[in-house]
Amino acid sequence: MSEKKKFETDAIRTQTPITDEREHSTPIYMTSSFRFDSAEQARALFANEIEGNVYSRYSNPTTDEFIDKMCKMEGAESGVATASGMAAVFSSLAALLSQGDHVLASRSLFGSSHQILSQILPRWGISFTYADTDDTNRWEELVQPNTKMLFLETPSNPGLDLIDLEWAGEFAEAHNLINMVDNCFATPYLQRPMDYGADVVQHSATKFIDGQGRAIGGVIVGKEKYMEEISFFSRHSGPALSPFNAWLFSKSLETLPIRMERHCDNAEALAEFLGEHPKVNFVKYPFHKDHPQSDLAKKQMKRGGGVVCFEVEGGLNGAKSFIDKISMISRSANLGDTRSIVTHPASTTHSKLTEEERQAVGITPGLVRIAVGLEHKADIISDVEQALNG
Ligand SMILES: *Cc1c(COP(=O)(O)O)cnc(C)c1O
Repeated sequence: MSEKKKFETDAIRTQTPITDEREHSTPIYMTSSFRFDSAEQARALFANEIEGNVYSRYSNPTTDEFIDKMCKMEGAESGVATASGMAAVFSSLAALLSQGDHVLASRSLFGSSHQILSQILPRWGISFTYADTDDTNRWEELVQPNTKMLFLETPSNPGLDLIDLEWAGEFAEAHNLINMVDNCFATPYLQRPMDYGADVVQHSATKFIDGQGRAIGGVIVGKEKYMEEISFFSRHSGPALSPFNAWLFSKSLETLPIRMERHCDNAEALAEFLGEHPKVNFVKYPFHKDHPQSDLAKKQMKRGGGVVCFEVEGGLNGAKSFIDKISMISRSANLGDTRSIVTHPASTTHSKLTEEERQAVGITPGLVRIAVGLEHKADIISDVEQALNG
């Protein structure tokens, strides 16, 4: 029964063993703890002599199903689910790094990941350096004797910059670095960093994994050696995901492949439209011909993903006026929802960065991000068109 199945089948058929009730869909095990048949069983469970659930901060059957699916989809050995994407990022960093360690990170990281590296970890003596994703030749000289980890995000939020995962795998191995990738934008359906040598992969499940804008959550999967440390950290520090949210995410994963196909269809069509529009200075979408790394995107991603960035003419005022004229698409700060969402990164998600930091990652005042949803593409494009022309 454990023969390898196709991605779509694993997304649906990976299931916690059914109970005597013969349920078809896995129940939500909303229980904080589990009963022991005897004092001896309790002792053996705590001593790790037998396997079984004890307490939902450590493990829970609904949460385990979500983790098992993510492991299969990413090609990972084990995983930990967390209460948010940031809990996944923080737990991985805190579990794997110690005082005196250094992190080499791709410059265009998610806003809160940047805050962890720049504001929180330095208090514990952990330093970092940013490197540009399009100039990997320079990374060599940025490695320090205490560099322990590569922390990458590709495609990045919101600039959609890519990093060559095959190069990163070789680089990390040559320098003996833990290779950690935030795979939130691509999802394992479009890109599997572990196939290129990544050691740890994390996600904000809030985004495409839930896919319906309902719940906050995260997940970390990877090689056993590292996941052991992360599991230990998570078990005792407690960022555990609620079984209810795990159930939502596991159900959502059943439709991840078909949803991602539609997100990509719609995003491609929108990027094409924007690329031709006179009021758009530039469009950035991994599979669009104007993206400077579109060849790399086609090498390591199945399709371009569900997020499109572009700069409207008129700078900050141009962007604000465009966003205010939007009628159907939601003004919100999320992405990966069925509903298309428009965001102004410079004044919202990335407002905590300094002007120079934003400049360095291409977040100009006129940059707009659209997380393209699953509405009909004609309606999405028509809303964008009227807002540009209005
Ligand atoms: C949203 C996001 C996160 C953080 O996830 P939360 O679920 O909001 O905590 C981390 N990385 C990327 C790339 C994201 O888009």
